[in-house]
Amino acid sequence: MTLDKRHWRIESRLAQIGSLEEPVTGAVSYPIYQATAFRHPKLGQSTGFDYSRTKNPTRKVLEDAIAELESGDAGFACSSGMAALQTIFALFGQGDHLLVSLDLYGGTYRLLERIMSRFGVTATYVDTNDLDALEAQAKPNTKAILIETPTNPLMMITDLKKVCGWARRKGMLSIVDNTLLTPFFQRPIELGADIVIHSATKYLGGHNDVLAGLIVTKGKELSEQMAFLHNSIGAVLNPQDSWLLMRGMKTLAIRMERHQYNATKIAEHLLAHPAVEAVYYPALPTHPGHEIQNMQSSGNTGIFSFRMKDARYIEPILRHIRLIAFAESLGGVESLMTYPAVQTHADIPEEIRRQVGVDDRLLRYSVGIEHAEDLIADLDRAIAAAQAEIEGV
Ligand SMILES: *Cc1c(COP(=O)(O)O)cnc(C)c1O
Repeated sequence: MTLDKRHWRIESRLAQIGSLEEPVTGAVSYPIYQATAFRHPKLGQSTGFDYSRTKNPTRKVLEDAIAELESGDAGFACSSGMAALQTIFALFGQGDHLLVSLDLYGGTYRLLERIMSRFGVTATYVDTNDLDALEAQAKPNTKAILIETPTNPLMMITDLKKVCGWARRKGMLSIVDNTLLTPFFQRPIELGADIVIHSATKYLGGHNDVLAGLIVTKGKELSEQMAFLHNSIGAVLNPQDSWLLMRGMKTLAIRMERHQYNATKIAEHLLAHPAVEAVYYPALPTHPGHEIQNMQSSGNTGIFSFRMKDARYIEPILRHIRLIAFAESLGGVESLMTYPAVQTHADIPEEIRRQVGVDDRLLRYSVGIEHAEDLIADLDRAIAAAQAEIEGV
């Protein structure tokens, strides 16, 4: 019996990742094939697996799953999100130019400015939702646009249908970093993107315990090109972590729903807090990207940023939070809070950071799946303790 999984809703497809792929024993958890080499039946024949850098059975189940979840044609699992980005950037070379989201993940900025620049690839950082700005910055040698939506930490939203359509008319590839929403909430390829990239370290893994990156491509030629680069560069995900990532992805639907529920509750609470100046979260009707976000995604991520009225609150807040950990990263079941200006975004020059609003009063909160009231109590207590220290009340 062959099952056509495409008839299943995404919750069912997620929960069943790998569970139908092992025909010999019927194992519902797909085995870890800890092997680098595969025996050939005879000269000129292969089981389909030769050497694990090129293809590994455990990794392949993961790669097929993400390709299907993102409505793409091929998936590629890499050793980290940065490895995935490096593999994608290897599509470009001397003289090529990229348009890139202004409020960008710091590591991606560093990879472009400090490494890709040495290979003659240049980038211009622009508000990717502003077609006039894109038109003004596009050059004859612009090969692609790299979009984060929402951006991190300021949660700026790009209308993917509009911008991917524009890029296609210009002959550029559209690359979308879908880390923050995951295919559970947003599927960029369905909106016109050519390539989707994930730091699977975040929501897809979901437990702050596996470092991984995923690429999905649309179209035969691009998929073949990416397969060549993935194998040639070799920054591939190992079988153990491929399994761990699939294990995490099985619960993606319920985790994302809870992340969204908690984040919305806490963002609303902070919006009304007298010590807080602003809250950046697309689920809030006051957010400038709210409508586009609702149009192109079925839900909201579990991270948001907020700006305190006084920079002096930041240090004591980070010292007083208990349930929420002061730590980098995002997207796991445990709540983490970070200070972008000195951590995740430290590699972005101050001038660009200020331009987009990543200043010394901004905190980013990756809301976990703990009880929302416990998280609110932890935040309120930390803010009150910070105020007491600063104002001596
Ligand atoms: C974390 C992150 C990356 C980098 O991924 P790693 O898995 O840490 O290498 C890229 N893009 C975004 C949006 C991220 O949050």
